[in-house]
Amino acid sequence: MYSEIVDERYKLITNLLMSGHTANFLDNILAKLDGKLPIDLIDAAYLLNNADNIYIQKIVLSASMKYRRYYCNDVGFIVPIYFDTRCQNNCKYCGMASSNTVISRGKNNYKTFLEELDILGELGYNTIELVAGSVSYDLNLLRKMMSAIRAKGKSAAFCLDSLSTDEYKQFATEKDTMIHFQETYNQDIYKKIHPLNTKKGNYNYRIDAVERAILAGLKKVGLGILFGLNKFIEDVLMVIDHGKYLELKYNLKIKLIGIPRLQITAGCMSDFKGFEVSNQELLLAAALYRLAFPYAEMVATTREDNNMIGDLLSHAATYTNFCCSLTPGGYKELKFGTFIDSQFQYHSPGYENIINIIESNKLVPNFKKSF
Ligand code: SF4
Repeated sequence: MYSEIVDERYKLITNLLMSGHTANFLDNILAKLDGKLPIDLIDAAYLLNNADNIYIQKIVLSASMKYRRYYCNDVGFIVPIYFDTRCQNNCKYCGMASSNTVISRGKNNYKTFLEELDILGELGYNTIELVAGSVSYDLNLLRKMMSAIRAKGKSAAFCLDSLSTDEYKQFATEKDTMIHFQETYNQDIYKKIHPLNTKKGNYNYRIDAVERAILAGLKKVGLGILFGLNKFIEDVLMVIDHGKYLELKYNLKIKLIGIPRLQITAGCMSDFKGFEVSNQELLLAAALYRLAFPYAEMVATTREDNNMIGDLLSHAATYTNFCCSLTPGGYKELKFGTFIDSQFQYHSPGYENIINIIESNKLVPNFKKSF
């Protein structure tokens, strides 16, 4: 399991970031960016390490734009259903932390879930992601919800707390996509921001969750970190390393790389300050992911504003969203604008805005596309 080698890999990445390279080395990377091969960890480390060099940034961004259009020039749509916003944990960066008494909490039952699913079907969404806080999941209900999404001919994805192989087997199949964020690969930071003696606080249990899901039969897995919890360069390289390890060991292709950025919401009283990640840095990271996993899906999330969604779609991301609710039942009353009443600050830009963004970046909205 990756937890057994993560210390060694982290050291390797730290060393890579300290090492120098010859001009020949750069020429080799540039030749790859011109061709069709994914870049490897060492190339990515070099490019990120020199990210303050405008020349390299330009090359990376234009190469990622080329790759993005090489694999597809369309944009799909994915939407979350937050079916349970209770959470027993108190992660310092998260608006759903149990100490937050400001945000609204709720839970879908099967009937209210089906009502939301119908609304999203009418809006044209073909990929539905089930999301919940860390609670004791009713696996029977989860199985029924996943089946209902599939029965409507849609792709089901889920983003939940880490589970055992046996638990994954009870509700997910090889058609489904697991999206799992390590948050940060830096163990010191991880320990400071996640409560001890909880499942989420167990760094190794979390890092191996994707492998337990693969052992349960899943083939489509997504990885990522939450930008803003650590220096982004280290974490981006760890995601690349983790992804390439999984691809090699299990003979699969990473289905999705997530690029969420920390957006503090109302009622989040934590003293955690985080690390600022600029728009340019997030774009650069997304571009590097695109070059390392050219075929992977990437979502320009509504954590970002319209301009940033456009930049991300143009260079790297393949999916986005035009309406969003982070509250059970929220799709029954569609609202558009910027909101700070849930897990993070988010925008719900509306259909016309998003179609304009996509088309003005010479991309094509594709409502048939799904995971
Ligand atoms: S990050 Fe997840 S486990 Fe932690 S408080 Fe938020 S919803 Fe709960």
